[in-house]
Amino acid sequence: MATILIIEDEVNIASLLQTCVESEGYDCSVAHDGKTGLAAFRRLEPDLIILDLMLPHMNGLEVCTQIRQSGVSKDPYVMLLTAKGEEIDRIIGFSTGADDYLPKPFSPTELLVRIRALLRRTMRHQAILKIETPHLQIDLERRSVCLKVISSHTIPVGIVSRIAVHLTALEFDVLATLANRPGRVWTRSQLLDDVWGGDFTGDERIVDSYIKRLRHKLGQGNAETYSFIRTVSGVGYAFEDP
Ligand code: CA
Repeated sequence: MATILIIEDEVNIASLLQTCVESEGYDCSVAHDGKTGLAAFRRLEPDLIILDLMLPHMNGLEVCTQIRQSGVSKDPYVMLLTAKGEEIDRIIGFSTGADDYLPKPFSPTELLVRIRALLRRTMRHQAILKIETPHLQIDLERRSVCLKVISSHTIPVGIVSRIAVHLTALEFDVLATLANRPGRVWTRSQLLDDVWGGDFTGDERIVDSYIKRLRHKLGQGNAETYSFIRTVSGVGYAFEDP
């Protein structure tokens, strides 16, 4: 069964979350501030972290950044809890590295639906092993992504070097889904269905946030700056490697 870490300073909410999660049979640990939470994350290597945005001393965004930069081999899913009335747009704009956002107050049912949707995705994309395009290599078994950079400035010209691109679990799944069908135009809701699972109930604009992060990461170190993901105005997104 999956291990879930809850980082939430409000004792009542932390305890409600814990009861919910444990009722489904997940292993659960609770931390009440960011520092303790990060220590627990390193010790437990959980599958999923439910992370409150407003924490004392170190806020949820800082905690999330440290989780993503930790170098721990198992990259957890992060569900960010946001307070009522906070603008989801503003938070998504920060490119936090969170995989989902759940506004408070939430219902236990909604919480569990979201958790199941995130955890289920680990099992996807297992039939095909590799996606290879002129400038990108995606290994679905190892869940790794490399940019293939063809040098034009150094001698000899034409040497291909590979640059590993570090993606979060969900970023990887969005890219793999798009790249698996080059040229196909996906609407936001089709991507949500395929990547997040049909019972996703959050904000569709989370897709835009992922595309933005992928473009940013895939653009690094590439002299030509291939974005790989084309916006199809009024419809959605398509993968292309020119
Ligand atoms: Ca809080």
